[in-house]
Amino acid sequence: MTESIPLPFRKIIHVDMDCFYAAVEMRDNPELRNVPVAIGGQSDRRGVLSTCNYQARKYGVRSAMPTAHALKLCPSLVVVPGRMAVYKETSAQIHQIFRRYTELIEPLSLDEAYLDVTDAHQFQGSATLMAQAIRREIHEELGLTASAGVAPMKFIAKIASDLNKPNGQFVVRPDEVASFVERLALHKIPGVGKVTMQKLNALGLRCGADVQQLGRERMVELFGKFGLSLWERANGYDPRPVVVQRDPKSVGVERTLSQDIFQLTECRQVVTQLYPELERRLAPKLADKEISKLGVKIKFNDFRLTSVEHHHSQLDEAIFDRLLQQAMQRQPGKGIRLVGLYVGLRTRPEIQQLLLEV
Ligand SMILES: [Mg+2]
Repeated sequence: MTESIPLPFRKIIHVDMDCFYAAVEMRDNPELRNVPVAIGGQSDRRGVLSTCNYQARKYGVRSAMPTAHALKLCPSLVVVPGRMAVYKETSAQIHQIFRRYTELIEPLSLDEAYLDVTDAHQFQGSATLMAQAIRREIHEELGLTASAGVAPMKFIAKIASDLNKPNGQFVVRPDEVASFVERLALHKIPGVGKVTMQKLNALGLRCGADVQQLGRERMVELFGKFGLSLWERANGYDPRPVVVQRDPKSVGVERTLSQDIFQLTECRQVVTQLYPELERRLAPKLADKEISKLGVKIKFNDFRLTSVEHHHSQLDEAIFDRLLQQAMQRQPGKGIRLVGLYVGLRTRPEIQQLLLEV
């Protein structure tokens, strides 16, 4: 059937939080719990929604939908601006729970990650029970629900996490892969969008079995490299490992403002709020890293991004203040919609030396 290299034995869990941003808002604001809620920009600013809860979805509201249109579908929709710092912090807490089971974690976004639990020892190695436990711990400790997919490869785990959503999981065991992909609707395969689907449909290709029948050569002729990968997926082949993110080269905190600000004093207030958060995030990194530079970033209301940096080996609020003034001077008088602070990091020389000696 396949000329590809045999797949290594793997147990992959794909964890996907249920309407994450909206769920965090509902958790933190009881008055939002029983109403349709969406996170996004305001309608009078041509804003777009990033997430909505299930109540809002009943009205046809979807993520990436313009706020104004969503409000037409659902006039009672409560649109909240979103608190990215809280979502990032919550995401870090979720990752702490993942780390009880494995270090092999590949985040796809703040609310979604692949976990490779092939070598995890809990529950006699049952990935199904580990996924259940992870979801239970997220719920008990963070008050949020997650869905999971369990499979011997990434793409099937990802598709599976959607099948019993919300607050559910779906398991595809190794001996179930063949029948799963045969019946799999092609539009569910990550990377197959609307346009591709139209082409596939025009050729009479709807599920994995159709692609299997057409054969590898023909798929490559028709679709090139993408055709090959689609043929592989349709045959239950996905050799991609879970890739752990590399060492951070910087740590940053930023805030998108609900309204543009213009004054230095207002920007200073944001910096003062961000500074302790930066300190907190930085602390664990300083075990094996040191600070190489400080930077301030600003996004103007025309979406132009500017950043100013200064080489320095310590956190220093006065330097951030100077950098802030320099950044603002690049477009004097222009409204500002985002302010961020960041710190460049490098591995401590003594650790670098140890790494070289290994
Ligand atoms: Mg999600």
